[in-house]
Amino acid sequence: MYRGKYIRHNIKTRIEQVHALDIRKINLSQEGVTIIIRPDGSQVTYRIRNDSVHLESHQQVIKLETTPCHYGGKRYWFLCPHCSKRVAVLYERNKLYRCRHCHNLPYTSQRVQQDERLRIKTRKIRDRLEASHNLAKPVMFKPKGMHWNTFDRLKMTEKYANYRSLAAAVNALHINIDKS
Ligand SMILES: [Zn+2]
Repeated sequence: MYRGKYIRHNIKTRIEQVHALDIRKINLSQEGVTIIIRPDGSQVTYRIRNDSVHLESHQQVIKLETTPCHYGGKRYWFLCPHCSKRVAVLYERNKLYRCRHCHNLPYTSQRVQQDERLRIKTRKIRDRLEASHNLAKPVMFKPKGMHWNTFDRLKMTEKYANYRSLAAAVNALHINIDKS
């Protein structure tokens, strides 16, 4: 038991020590070289050029891609220089920026907690529907005494929460189910 705790603590320390480059924190319309000074005093310098970020301090070129936003406009993504997957955050290790998976970094504990909350929410709705806690089993029957309207509404809510928890789990495994 102690050993497990010790290992988890180690992994957590490691991901926090890794420098993250978040596309949402980069001003893509900025001209010239931008300098990021890290807590240890080292620097990251980059220049935006058309559809790529030139990490001059690391001699790495990171391609950018856009996807349309739901409500208009577009969203920018990095393409991981190693696997070409679309990501919002790249991490530096051994002087190279890559996605979390290419660097073999663990899923953060915060994300695990979010996923767990989604599963708990889904199970609570399932309790009201008197359905199985096994999220893979569909909700089939209306509980006795429940109005059809309530049943339909809860069933829809359950379906959505269940889908989101499944999507989060799939995302954790680094599988793309939604290419939009
Ligand atoms: Zn990658």
